[in-house]
This record gives sequence, C-alpha cells and structure tokens, in this order.
Amino acid sequence: MKITNVEFVISAVRPDQYPVDDLPEFALAGRSNVGKSSLINKMIMRKGLARTSAQPGKTQQLNYYRVNERVYLVDFPGYGYAKVSKVQRAQFGTMIETFLGDRDPLRMVLLIVDIRHSPSKDDILMYDWLKHYEIPVCVVTTKADKVPKSQWPKQVKMIKTELGFHPEDRHVLFSSETGLGREELWAIIDEVIAE
Ligand code: GDP
Repeated sequence: MKITNVEFVISAVRPDQYPVDDLPEFALAGRSNVGKSSLINKMIMRKGLARTSAQPGKTQQLNYYRVNERVYLVDFPGYGYAKVSKVQRAQFGTMIETFLGDRDPLRMVLLIVDIRHSPSKDDILMYDWLKHYEIPVCVVTTKADKVPKSQWPKQVKMIKTELGFHPEDRHVLFSSETGLGREELWAIIDEVIAE
C-alpha cells in the first residue's frame, strides 16, 4: 500500500473527542513493549510518528492516525504495566469496554503479540472481550525476525491455542524490522473496508 498522507489527528481522552467523519477504524491493542508503535510506524512508513515510549499513566488515551484520508489506525494504550494503579487499571477497562461496545466505525482490532512468548493474561482477556463484542480480530505476531523461520509455525500454533483463536479471525506474521507482513496487513485492512 502506497502511503500518500498520514495525519496524527488527536490524542483523545474522552469519547466526545473521537473523530466524527465516520471513516473506518482499525484499533491496535497489545501489552506495553510488544512492538505496537514500531508496527504503526512501519505500516505508515513514518519513523517515529507513533511514539515508542512507555506512558504508563496514559491509560485512557486513544491516538488517532488518519491514513490516506480513508482509514484510521487507532492506537490503544499499551496494557500490562506493573506500575499502573488499580484505579488506572479500572479506567482502562471501562474506556476499552465502552469503546468496543459503542464505537460504530470500528471495523477490526489488531491484537499485537510477541511471537516469542505465550499471550499474557491481559492478551487473553482482550481477545475474550473482542469475541464478546463480536469485533473481528487480526492477531499479529510481531518480532518474527527474532526467531528462526523454522520455529514460526510452532510458535503461532501455541499462541493461537492459548488465545482460543477462532477460525473466522485473521492472523499475520509481522516484523517491524524487516517489513514482513506489512503488505498482507494492509491487504486485510483493504478487504475489511471493502466488505
Ligand atoms: P510498544 O511499547 O508496544 O509501542 O513497543 P515499541 O514499538 O516501542 O517496541 C519495543 C521494543 O521492541 C523496541 O526496542 C523496538 O525497537 C523493538 N521492536 C519492536 N518491533 C520489533 C520487531 O519487529 N523486531 C525487532 N527485532 N525488534 C522490535
């Protein structure tokens, strides 16, 4: 996919700040440090537009990137910070559930996991929420360059089993380092927009 235009639109902390232009939205969720910002930057071909920094306090902030004036990538806060308070955790839960339950333009959630590791409890909870709200999911196993290709099938199988992956959902192997999976992920996004 050729990127002709990317705009960072807003860091929304309240639903009344979410865009109202009704473009299809693809949200990205994953635990902190999983490689979510790197993936967004790779997808939009802009080094450093999505910030690769830990922001444990910003548990309610949704960052909206408008790409080619036709789609939003919505960056969820990374979850799983040890230092986040109970109150922040609860705020995150409420914000995400409200978003998943109410957000009409949301077309799919890209659930980003590290190919090297078992999904965390929070990853499994997120996947369960997505199934509960009947939101299409694409599981993206990133950092693929960090394990030998021969181990990819075994790792992917383990992750799918532990998540309870449903066959109607999608999966993409990704590497922000090599660009593996970038075109495939854009193709999936295009397909879902066209549905
Ligand atoms: P975030 O907290 O989920 O936004 O994670 P970042 O995008 O900041 O990435 C966390 C760390 O993993 C950084 O040091 C990245 O350079 C590294 N990283 C992210 N994606 C990849 C990848 O696909 N391959 C490799 N080798 N490193 C990655």
